Amino acid sequence: MWAFAVVIALAAGTIVAIVLPSLLRERRRERLRAPDNDLLRARLGRTRAWKRLPPALRRRLEELVRIFLGERTFIGCAGLRITEAIRVDIAADACLLLLGHQRHVYDDLQAILVYPDEFVVPELWEENGVVTEESRPLSGQSWDTSRVILSWTDVIEAGPGYNVVVHEFAHYHDYAAGFTSGSGGPRWQAVVTAAFEALESAEAEERPCVLDPYSLESDAEFFAVATEAFIEQPEALQEDFPDVYTELRTLYGLDPAKW
Ligand SMILES: [Zn+2]
Repeated sequence: MWAFAVVIALAAGTIVAIVLPSLLRERRRERLRAPDNDLLRARLGRTRAWKRLPPALRRRLEELVRIFLGERTFIGCAGLRITEAIRVDIAADACLLLLGHQRHVYDDLQAILVYPDEFVVPELWEENGVVTEESRPLSGQSWDTSRVILSWTDVIEAGPGYNVVVHEFAHYHDYAAGFTSGSGGPRWQAVVTAAFEALESAEAEERPCVLDPYSLESDAEFFAVATEAFIEQPEALQEDFPDVYTELRTLYGLDPAKW
């Protein structure tokens, strides 16, 4: 009898331990979604992300941005003071990639580190058994699910063909959801292989291309660069790389060419 009671108590405790955190998180998110801050809406209304969206997606973006700002921490580095403009601009572009999802891909993201300009990271690489260390200036970095690092100067340079926030958060999606980098399945791999061939011939013939040549670095970089083009130049990507566009439309649940 006692053993039975202990088993029941343990089972109940396990259920509470699993269910309670997600119930509390959902209640907190209900409060965060509530539009109680007109300043935030005014700031969000000035972002590039907001201006291009149809009304129904604007409402969804606002909810996502409120949750993002309520749950994620922004840290200014190298003397940069984090302002509301910095928080909202970054959150708006990061949340564009969530618009087609029911789940919050950034749940494990703890902090967004923002530098005033490019930042330098040490890098080790090996060639013919010789390990070399060198410093590399970066505009953004996302190499695990706990943090994303950005250069504010590069964030505000976003435009056709370039969006460092979308690029780094595409890497984040990649890590968090296992979209690509070999885990995208044979269909995605076939699409990447064909796109690489088209990119290489464009490079060889010095033809301009909607995808930056940096996308040839690796499968992971191809995914991030293709996502930038998907958001920033959707019509051009759809025209030049229709299979890439179709795959990204399915992965993100979005159709930016129709916005
Ligand atoms: Zn990258």
